[in-house]
Amino acid sequence: MNGPSLVSTSPLRLGISSCLLGQEVRYDGGHKRDRFLTDVLGDYVMWVPVCPEVEIGLGTPRPTIRLERAEDGSARLVMPSSGEDLTDRMQDYADDRIRRLEKHDLAGYVLKKDSPSCGMERVKVRDPNGMPARNGVGTFAAELLRLAPDLPVEEEGRLNDAKLRENFITRIFAYQRWRDLEQAGPTRRRLMEFHAAHKYVLMSRNQAGMRRLGRLLGETGRADSVREVAVTYRTGFTEVMRRAPGRKGHTNVLRHLAGYVSDGLDPDDRSELTESIGQYHAGLVPLIVPVTLLRHYVRKFEIDTLQNQVYLWPHPHELMLLNHV
Ligand code: SF4
Repeated sequence: MNGPSLVSTSPLRLGISSCLLGQEVRYDGGHKRDRFLTDVLGDYVMWVPVCPEVEIGLGTPRPTIRLERAEDGSARLVMPSSGEDLTDRMQDYADDRIRRLEKHDLAGYVLKKDSPSCGMERVKVRDPNGMPARNGVGTFAAELLRLAPDLPVEEEGRLNDAKLRENFITRIFAYQRWRDLEQAGPTRRRLMEFHAAHKYVLMSRNQAGMRRLGRLLGETGRADSVREVAVTYRTGFTEVMRRAPGRKGHTNVLRHLAGYVSDGLDPDDRSELTESIGQYHAGLVPLIVPVTLLRHYVRKFEIDTLQNQVYLWPHPHELMLLNHV
């Protein structure tokens, strides 16, 4: 990744459902290796594998377990063959395991879809009549989302969608930069630099949210605790970043960025840039086309305010994520 000087030098660590790495930990002794995660993203991250069902002692192979809706509306994790209710055991284990994961400084987490333990959404839950509805969250995943609300979390199934994949990977690199800032110790200057570097990443998702975060930092008085401001900022940043930007949001940012370089362009180059943004907006070329042109001009004209823009260099170029959105 060549671009922002804010690029993290620490290794990026992601939690992951072990079966996605090819570990044979599923109930039937099999795995669900995901080639994108192991063969592509794996070159840029260190995985921290967790199999909640094995780690609570269910063994491999093991009888199947599932979610069942109790009379009080809660979802219980149950082993139908024995009738055992594993919910409390899984929740206690999850609370302890997730706290222990903190020492790994995770930048994100990839969960296995549809699993009654690991699934993040739309997991099958049987109602008291045995009718299934896809409205559950795996018991381990629910604790992860509760205890680490700002951590970027995705399911491997959703990562097959180019837009969601690009968003998740932008988020994990942004989260890692945030972790670096927290470790260095939040100061007003570091918060402002972080916000400035992510300005257009935020704008592409939610312009009002980007401004709100800017005001939060701008209006902070000297008497306010920087640490408290940082916590509020992190929550707001997470909210804005959760949403993958659409073509309209990207086009708006591309036009803003073009405004910085267009004065230095001759008429041919200016119309080429305008045309490429228009073609992206119309869905005729991927985002990488106008972004590559903008990167080139930002370097050529040495535009300081854009040299550190994460929007132009959000993740390693070799992942080619901007070629598919
Ligand atoms: S989905 Fe979760 S619990 Fe099931 S095998 Fe994979 S890691 Fe283990």
